[in-house]
Amino acid sequence: MEKGTINVQSENIFPIIKKFLYSDHEIFLRELVSNAVDATQKLKGLASMGEFKGELADINVKVKINKELKTLTISDSGIGMTADEIKKYINQIAFSSAGEFLEKFKGVEDGKTIIGHFGLGFYSSFMVSEKVEIFSKSHKDEPAVRWECDGSPEFQLEEIEKAERGTDIVLHINEESIEFLEEHRIKTLLTKYCKFLPIPIEFGTKYQSEEDKKAEKPVEPEIINNTEPAWTKAPSTLTDEDYLKFYKELYPFSNDPLFWIHLNVDYPFNLTGILYFPKLNQSYQVEKIKYTFIQIKYL
Ligand code: ADP
Repeated sequence: MEKGTINVQSENIFPIIKKFLYSDHEIFLRELVSNAVDATQKLKGLASMGEFKGELADINVKVKINKELKTLTISDSGIGMTADEIKKYINQIAFSSAGEFLEKFKGVEDGKTIIGHFGLGFYSSFMVSEKVEIFSKSHKDEPAVRWECDGSPEFQLEEIEKAERGTDIVLHINEESIEFLEEHRIKTLLTKYCKFLPIPIEFGTKYQSEEDKKAEKPVEPEIINNTEPAWTKAPSTLTDEDYLKFYKELYPFSNDPLFWIHLNVDYPFNLTGILYFPKLNQSYQVEKIKYTFIQIKYL
C-alpha cells in the first residue's frame, strides 16, 4: 500500500471547492458519468484502430445506489487507469489545476460553468462524499488498483484483485447529501444531464409488463438515455413519425408541433439540430420555438 500527499498548494482544497460550488452540488453526477462515457469511448476508439484487441463485451455505464452502505457507484468498462495514471491524472493534474482554478476565479459567482475546464470534474464528487474510492483495471496488462481519499490531501493507493476491465467510482455519501441515495433524485438527475450521452447508461430496473411486475419476474436494467437522438441522424433516414416521437420524448406534455426544420450545415461551420415550431393554441399566445441541442463546431 502506498500513501502519499496529493500535490496541492492550498492546505485543504476541499472546503474551498465545497463552498465555491455550494449551490450546485448535483453536477458531480454529470461529471462522473461523463468521465465514464469518455473512458468507454476512448476504448471503442482504440478498438476501432486495432490498438485494443480484447473483447469489448458489455460497455454500458452503470449507476447504482446502496442505501445500507450509503454509497453511490458509477461503473464503466472503459480504458481504466493504471496506478501511474491515477497518480498522474487524479493526484497531480486535477490538483495543480485546482490551484489554478481557485487563483483565477476567486470571487466569481458562477463557478459551475468553468469547473469542467480545469480538470476539477472528478473532484466535484467530494461535494457530496465523505470518502471516495476508485477501483480500476486498465485495458493494459497491469495490476488493478484501489485509490481512496477522504477529502484531505492524503490519499491511499494499493494493488487489488479486479478481473473486469474498467473503473468503479464509489462515493461514500456524506450526511448532508443523503438525497443522492434516493432513486428518484438520481433518476431525475441522469435524465436532466445524461439523456443524450452516446453510451447506454443503466440505472435501476424495469419490468417488461405489468403482469411481469405482479409476478415479480426477473427484471432487466433500465437504460436512461437515447444514444442516437434524431438530430445526429441524416434527415433522409428519418420519417415524420421519427421527428414526432423525438419531440414527444423532449416535451411529453406538448401538442404535436406545427412543423420542424432539421439543420445540417457542413460549411463554414458544422451545425446540427432540429428546430420545432409549436402550434399556437390561441392567436395571441406566442410560444418560443423549441429546439433540440444544437451543436456548432467551427472548422
Ligand atoms: P477531466 O475529465 O476534465 O479531464 P477529471 O478530474 O474529471 O477531469 O478527470 C481527470 C482525468 O482522470 C481524466 O482526464 C481521465 O484521464 C481520468 N479519469 C477520470 N475518470 C475516469 C474513468 N472513469 N476512467 C478512466 N479515466 C478516468
